[in-house]
Amino acid sequence: MTETIAVGVDIGGTKIAIAAASCDGRILSQNIVPTHPAEGVDSVVERMARAIETVIDAVGFKVQIAGIGIAAPGLVDPRNGIALNAVNLGWRNVPLRDLLSAKLAIAAPIALANDINAGALGEMRFGAARGVRDFGYLMVGTGLGGGAVIDGKVVNGARGAAMEVGHVSIDPNGRRCACGLRGCVEMFVSGKGVLAAVEEYLPAYPESSLAALAPVTTGAIFAAAREGDPLAVRVMDEAADALGVALAWTATILNPPLIVLGGGFMRAAGERLWNGALVSLRVRALPAVVDGLIIVRSQLESTALGASALVWEERD
Ligand SMILES: [Zn+2]
Repeated sequence: MTETIAVGVDIGGTKIAIAAASCDGRILSQNIVPTHPAEGVDSVVERMARAIETVIDAVGFKVQIAGIGIAAPGLVDPRNGIALNAVNLGWRNVPLRDLLSAKLAIAAPIALANDINAGALGEMRFGAARGVRDFGYLMVGTGLGGGAVIDGKVVNGARGAAMEVGHVSIDPNGRRCACGLRGCVEMFVSGKGVLAAVEEYLPAYPESSLAALAPVTTGAIFAAAREGDPLAVRVMDEAADALGVALAWTATILNPPLIVLGGGFMRAAGERLWNGALVSLRVRALPAVVDGLIIVRSQLESTALGASALVWEERD
């Protein structure tokens, strides 16, 4: 018997997650490889191609590949398969679909989308938004991304930047963001944001347990905040406050019944971030949009599942 499967590939700033999955979201095999963006596009795509083949081989029975779904960070041109501008990878106008296709030993259609949109589709098909046609989606990882699904369709906007709430400045004199602005929401609540915050505030906190660490990691910041370290607490409380701002915008602009919060940072940061963000939302948005609003964590087992959803979306 041959099962038809999709391969999902989620390209992150530090790692690439790959999964072979069935059309109902069962992961049949998966792998994670480092991104190493500094090695250049060619090297990243080469590693991705070999990892895709390894994951397909590891399924262990005969499969037919319906397609490969790629979730790439930043602005993406899905029609032409181009990663237009991925700041965290240093990619501009990379013809990802064609580059990958040339390196793969197998022939399969390749669908490309922005990682946030892929995540939102994944939540709708397999995760926390199953059966929901309207919802907001925020993904807090290395950066902060936002998406929206209205009437079952991802909202792209005129230039594919709809719901890019991570790059709205809440402090135009604040820390410089890789996007060119200062004090973006992402510079407060994301891996990059909290690391930059610690670096900025550290001189004022010589007693902080983080002062002895080189380099400081997000995991160390979460742990220090749990132990009451004043610098880590300040940084995480500012992160929670900024996440509440992004939630308030999302809730007010869309007035959705559901917002899904995903991303590795969100998962690892613990209750302080979650609870603080909900308090921040309540003081910033109208009861009319907050009351009855359900906010849930992502239920996708892997971000690569969201990427695999792109394949089924194209076929439906
Ligand atoms: Zn920015």
